[in-house]
Amino acid sequence: MTATILSGGPVLTGNREGKVFARGAVAFEGERIVAVGAETAIFPAYPEARRLEAKGGLIVPGLINLHHHFYSAFARGLSPGVPTRDFEEVLRGLWWRLDRALDADAVRVSAALALADCVRWGCTTVLDHHSSPACVPGSLDLIAGEVRKAGISAVLCYEVTDRNGEAEALAGLEENVRFLLDGASDARVHGMVGLHAAFTLTDRTLAKVASRIPRGVGVHVHAAEGARDAGPLERLDRFGLLGHDSLLVHGVHLTPSELGRVAERGATLVHCPESNAHNGVGRLDLLTASEAGCRLGLGTDGISSNVLRSLRAAFLGHRDARRDPSSGFDVVPGLLGGNAEFAGRAFAEPLLGQLVPGAPADIAVFDAPSPTPVETENGFGHLVYAASEAPVRHTIARGRLLVKDFELLSIDLESVAAEARRLSPGVWSRFRAIPAQ
Ligand SMILES: [Zn+2]
Repeated sequence: MTATILSGGPVLTGNREGKVFARGAVAFEGERIVAVGAETAIFPAYPEARRLEAKGGLIVPGLINLHHHFYSAFARGLSPGVPTRDFEEVLRGLWWRLDRALDADAVRVSAALALADCVRWGCTTVLDHHSSPACVPGSLDLIAGEVRKAGISAVLCYEVTDRNGEAEALAGLEENVRFLLDGASDARVHGMVGLHAAFTLTDRTLAKVASRIPRGVGVHVHAAEGARDAGPLERLDRFGLLGHDSLLVHGVHLTPSELGRVAERGATLVHCPESNAHNGVGRLDLLTASEAGCRLGLGTDGISSNVLRSLRAAFLGHRDARRDPSSGFDVVPGLLGGNAEFAGRAFAEPLLGQLVPGAPADIAVFDAPSPTPVETENGFGHLVYAASEAPVRHTIARGRLLVKDFELLSIDLESVAAEARRLSPGVWSRFRAIPAQ
């Protein structure tokens, strides 16, 4: 097998403990990285290798997004036409109508659009949280098909909720279990069990979830996003759903004792700063959560697919909230490390999120040639101040080039966007016919 050497820029080997090779190179063969180091060490070791040039761009591990909603693609430009003055009105006026307006084509095309954006922003692993009450059975297979075409890795789930009655809640649970056991999951497309949030789930449904969830599988659930969802942990915990395989998203309104419980049980708390700002729900205090011992991660929550922009929002928002321009370096870089840790466990790939020999060849190159030294001590600064606003030159997932020299290769975005434009008037007219609940 011929190796490929990606070189010509600084290599940042990891998101938390990473080193920097100022003029670095990453060699990969097939799906795996075989060597990482200075160009001067890597070139002679692989004289026959194909070459791929970073042209000064920052070479980093492929990004991981712990919380996305692919189906939000059809919300772009859509006016709810009803007041959205608080968290609950946003749900009732927008999201709980949009998800009901989705048919199978809309599920498939919205996934393709969101995945194209993931790839274009250097994301190679994504955890999606899906809802389409008019198209439940088989919806996760439709999304899995698009994930495979896009070429990245994903963990999919369907959002179980009692807000539309128990029959729909059980259909959602069945879709999760079916996908986990018999569906189109494989080594790179996994399943979890999706739950909307404790406040839209009855004890009866939570008990059914607990009885059906396979061992080693966690739940992916919104928790304390708005004040309406206060105190969700006691109920989730009572049904044994807070283990280290579970993702709790937002956590804005968790109390100190609830944060302590998250830490004790080992679930990962996913910060979604842009979405929180967008919905005006408040924000998770990262330092308090970190000091309570919580595992922390980062998601985009459907507002975009750009993980580094979310990281920048986390960093700036943290400083703003703390009124402290020296803060953030202690806790924000750990979010990417938390993402790597959780996804690494989900895929049984402990080296995921690192550029080291043996790791999956998931790599992104941000076109941010640096005017200043890139060193191990300041790698995060280059990520958050420069790469977060730079285009992606290359995205590589498991050794496959998905973006090469800014060109998206794995998805024909023009034709997917054209199909979306054909479908969106129908989606929007169904949306408008559904009253805000
Ligand atoms: Zn969400």
